[in-house]
Amino acid sequence: MNKALYPIVEIFSSIQGEGFHMGKGSTFIRVAGCNLRCSWCDTQHSFDVSKARWMSVEEIIEESEITHQHVVITGGEPTLYDLGPLVQELHKLGKYVAIETNGTNPIPADWALDWITASPKPGSDFALCCQADELKYVVDDEFTIDCITKQYLPEGRIFLQVESGRQESAQKGYELINSHPDRRLRMGIQLHKILDVR
Ligand code: SF4
Repeated sequence: MNKALYPIVEIFSSIQGEGFHMGKGSTFIRVAGCNLRCSWCDTQHSFDVSKARWMSVEEIIEESEITHQHVVITGGEPTLYDLGPLVQELHKLGKYVAIETNGTNPIPADWALDWITASPKPGSDFALCCQADELKYVVDDEFTIDCITKQYLPEGRIFLQVESGRQESAQKGYELINSHPDRRLRMGIQLHKILDVR
């Protein structure tokens, strides 16, 4: 029996609406708490850890419907907790386990995550403290090309994310992609919001 407990906000199945795996059926496990406070954050309901339900790995797996093979641990900021035991049990079920992080914490290799999406944020000076499989940058008014880390990634894995559907953000991302073809950037959208699903 594993003793790890996690503050869970919600567990639900939908589609991955962003990034490299966009469109895939996915089960999301959202943990509470975040070390940043981004102005555009659309998951502020996950900030308050006291409103979350502390669940063991067994409870998460037995009480939840983790229907999809693609599982995304998100938040808030999931690296505030030791995710190793949870990832291990999900792997035993044959799940592909991805994480969404703001990149401010190192991610231990022994968590053995299958995919790391890091989204460095202005509140942390765009610090990136983990090895990522893809990077997502929200294009707000302050964002510049110099905010993007030089960390090596295969082509097509750095996304410029439109800020909450703002036209100015979309235009700025479009211009950055076209003025820096050497960086091989991609435009990022939120498909779940366009489709008006969860
Ligand atoms: S890091 Fe993510 S969860 Fe935390 S405040 Fe920023 S957008 Fe919200």
